[in-house]
Amino acid sequence: MTARRPADRQELEIRQRRLLENLASQRLDALIVSSPANIRYLAGFTGSSGLLVVGADAVVLFTDPRYGAQAAEQAACRVRVVRRLVRGGLGPTLVRSRWKRIGFEPSRLPYAVFEELRACLPSRVRLMPAAGLVEDLRAVKSPEEIARIRRSAATALEAFSRVGPTLRPGMRESEVAAELDYQMRRLGAEGPAFETIVASGERTAWPHADASSKAVAPGEPVLIDMGARQDGYHSDLTRMLALGRPGLRIAAMHRAVLEAQLAALESVREGVSAAAVDRAARQVLRRHGLERRFVHSTGHGLGLEIHEPPRLGPREPRRLRAGMVITIEPGVYIPGLGGVRIEDTVVVTAGGAEILTNSPKELLVI
Ligand code: ZN
Ligand code: ZN
Repeated sequence: MTARRPADRQELEIRQRRLLENLASQRLDALIVSSPANIRYLAGFTGSSGLLVVGADAVVLFTDPRYGAQAAEQAACRVRVVRRLVRGGLGPTLVRSRWKRIGFEPSRLPYAVFEELRACLPSRVRLMPAAGLVEDLRAVKSPEEIARIRRSAATALEAFSRVGPTLRPGMRESEVAAELDYQMRRLGAEGPAFETIVASGERTAWPHADASSKAVAPGEPVLIDMGARQDGYHSDLTRMLALGRPGLRIAAMHRAVLEAQLAALESVREGVSAAAVDRAARQVLRRHGLERRFVHSTGHGLGLEIHEPPRLGPREPRRLRAGMVITIEPGVYIPGLGGVRIEDTVVVTAGGAEILTNSPKELLVI
């Protein structure tokens, strides 16, 4: 059996070519790529130490000796194994090149590396911040990428349906989270997409509560926000449970959030702005008097990372395109009482949204 490659070599070369076209339109001669997810996307290398430079006449990955064999096996470009990535590799390569305007990822390149690089380069070479070039390419997924996210979502969903109904009063939140993570790995995931959230009772009012040592008590709502990372791709799912009949206010919040989530899902299709999808959810919550309790955006893109463009927020003019994979996850949070969020991972299509985490969204009463 051969090791599964991160992506087909041909697909990687197409991505590099598309990036080069975007660089040309920004009048850049090359781009230094330092984000591990972007390096993986362009070159197929999954190691954690590397710098990639993509230019018209050269695409080179610099990595250290720990990753030499892995890079030789995975990378769809030239590989240089050096002990010091900048001074021993990237710097001298840039000096020898004829590139004058070289882009870098301002939010991904550590300042110390930037300074080291600048010290290597002659004054004729300009380092230009160039944010989001690779992320823009990544926003629209290929059929192969969608297939991976689909498998990742199926894993998360199956783990949830195995563990959710086993919840009992007295179980600690962290115990439930550990069980979910274990099941996802058994089902083929490399691990959870992020630290699995299990929040119960009043803690559900913290949108990003991590699982604590608190025990789940009868009558409490439980919020589970989880996802898998499988073949490098993330999924994201939130469902609500209750141990016994939940309070009337939580039940009413749940109905409102579900209505908002369905309205937002209904609005998703190619060509619609991300802001319009956010508005669809927000309008429903306004009718229920809960708009002020909705303190985050309606969703986000996901893929090689759990949070990717586009963001589905009120001021997001970007239009959805077929092949984007996004979450739809309105929520409301009332401190001292509790919170409700419902989340699906969906593919944007020409006619609507295909839900990858399709399962019942009613409050699951155990
Ligand atoms: Zn989530
Ligand atoms: Zn999410």
